Amino acid sequence: MLCYHGVSPSWEHRLCIRPDLLLGQVRALSRFWNVHATFDDAFRSAAAVFPTLESLDVPIQIFVCTSYAREGSVLAIPELAGDDPDELSTMNWEELGEHADRGVEIGSHGVSHAHLTTLSGDELHHELNGSWEEIEDRLRRPCKDFAYPYGEHDLRVRAAARVAGYGRAYALRGSWSDDYAAPRLDLYRRHNVPWTLLRALVR
Ligand SMILES: [Zn+2]
Repeated sequence: MLCYHGVSPSWEHRLCIRPDLLLGQVRALSRFWNVHATFDDAFRSAAAVFPTLESLDVPIQIFVCTSYAREGSVLAIPELAGDDPDELSTMNWEELGEHADRGVEIGSHGVSHAHLTTLSGDELHHELNGSWEEIEDRLRRPCKDFAYPYGEHDLRVRAAARVAGYGRAYALRGSWSDDYAAPRLDLYRRHNVPWTLLRALVR
């Protein structure tokens, strides 16, 4: 399971990656493993690589924050304040529906991209349950997977994800023995293809 965020030739952010490098990583990893590509935050820019991933038979999953799926929205989180709004543009419900129609899985990344471990019980419930309810309501498809914003989770958050009805919740660093802390390999602009293969091997 690979974890990507923004995909852009022009956004010089450490969380972003150029499309050609992403596809180089996926092609190299696909020679050795079954690769799944996941895209946190539902940045609109990520869709540029979907046709090639689909031609490579690489399953795609988008983890969307429901409050940023409105028309014309950008991912307005403090950590990205001041970045180019064009690069922060997020997919709207119509686009998410079109991707889902082509076979892209749509999972939840919460409502507002909150730091879940810091929330009250009510707030945590809203992030976990409110998001899957809206995804299922808008897209008319089951939402079974969750990805923790910032990869942050603890015992209480993992238990709440289970109670909310998710079948699996993805972290970044985690363990395949815990469905609510499933690991992903997060890849960014700094990971050239040899380094990517090395990271995948040593995990
Ligand atoms: Zn995120």
